[in-house]
Amino acid sequence: MTSEEFKQWGYRFVDWAADYIAHPEKYPVLSRVSPGDIRKQLPAEPPAQPESYEQMLQDLDRIIVPGLTHWNHPSFFAYFPNTGSEPGIFGEMLTAALNVNGMVWRTSPAATELEEHVLDWLRGMIGLPAAFKGMIFDTASLSTFHALAAARETITERSVREDGLSGPDAPRLRLYASEQAHSSIEKSVMALGIGRRGLVKIGTDAEFRMDAKALEFAIDKDLREGFRPFAVVATVGTTSTTSIDPVARIADVCAKFGLWLHVDAAYAGSAAILPEMRHIVDGVDRADSFVTNPHKWLLTSMDFSAFYCRRPDMLRRAFSLSPEYLQTAEGDAVTNAQDSTLQLGRRFRALKFWMVIRHYGVEGLRDCIREHIRLGKLFASLVESDPRFEVVAPVPFSTVCFRLKSGDADNQALIDRVNASGKLFISSTRLNEKLTLRFAIGNARSGEAHVRAAWEEIRSLNRQDAKGEM
Ligand code: PLP
Repeated sequence: MTSEEFKQWGYRFVDWAADYIAHPEKYPVLSRVSPGDIRKQLPAEPPAQPESYEQMLQDLDRIIVPGLTHWNHPSFFAYFPNTGSEPGIFGEMLTAALNVNGMVWRTSPAATELEEHVLDWLRGMIGLPAAFKGMIFDTASLSTFHALAAARETITERSVREDGLSGPDAPRLRLYASEQAHSSIEKSVMALGIGRRGLVKIGTDAEFRMDAKALEFAIDKDLREGFRPFAVVATVGTTSTTSIDPVARIADVCAKFGLWLHVDAAYAGSAAILPEMRHIVDGVDRADSFVTNPHKWLLTSMDFSAFYCRRPDMLRRAFSLSPEYLQTAEGDAVTNAQDSTLQLGRRFRALKFWMVIRHYGVEGLRDCIREHIRLGKLFASLVESDPRFEVVAPVPFSTVCFRLKSGDADNQALIDRVNASGKLFISSTRLNEKLTLRFAIGNARSGEAHVRAAWEEIRSLNRQDAKGEM
């Protein structure tokens, strides 16, 4: 391809992307295809001869787009929404064009140093102490996996790195998290050889926050029974309700027993860039590691998870291994990312985040999150104004858990009807054993009009349901 051809097609693809992000609301939010519908339309064999970009664009519209659930849609209110922002898209495009692999410093010094630098910026934005060193991972699940692998290395009576965790003399490790903690914690213990029985789920209070007293009691009991506690995961912004565990009190418990404290703030950590929300990270200065995902609420395209660790020596103990072919002359004068991670290859993710922060400025990012929090409270007040519904958890951020008072069957019917409408997309969870609807605001394109229209739609679909009109 000549440079001229590249530009011509590049403009076509940018035109396509520009049209798409200008009007995502012209599609149903939730894809309507059935399982297998997409594959049925794809040829069984790859093309033997080159095909044109023209054909690919046609197939993109014809086959792929109908099979998408549109996260860019302003009425995507399920899970934790995200934003395909323009600077994020440009950053991704340049990352693909540069195609560097930042596995060690010399394989692209700018990739390593920009990563360190933007994570230092973010650390300052959310008010973490300078002792935390940042690294980018794809997801919070992988960030947490690395945190817990590092925590496992703090066990002094055995070198897990060298001897593993099998055999009759292996310590029976125990990790603690609330019953509201994300499933990624459980996956980490499965993958790290600790096992699901090694994860103790601590009860929560009426507002779904970890009970720090129950944590202390559980650790005490485990010690008496010969288990080896090694870490606690506190959550700032749990997945179901966005509750905030009492991190400072949990940090006291960790200090008492000498345990690693990891804080999972995958969604809500971004809100700490607001001075008025800084309290959500109270106590995090005493944690050993912390994760937040700019790809959730800081306008950065998938994927980007910011991981911070104040014990980088433990991360290196868990993962450093430099065969001859990876050794470099720079030695300890530089950061070689692969010394602290399971993976070797490393995408240049820092570029898009750098561009996002520069494009919006910290104030622009704050405005966006502040507005989402306002809209969350507005939605909660709309729900509360209808006596058939109830808000079932506090709303500290922009996610509202609510339900029809009448029962699970009605709530299930309502959510099915809402999501089949194509006009909005919400998700659900179970709280106190009751089916609960979740309405989360986190897309920069979602405004007050979308939130009000969503509530009207939910109410009217519920009315139709009750009257059996549909
Ligand atoms: N932790 C919390 C609190 C979450 O809410 C989520 C996802 O929503 C995760 C971790 C997992 O995030 P990821 O998809 O980046 O692994």
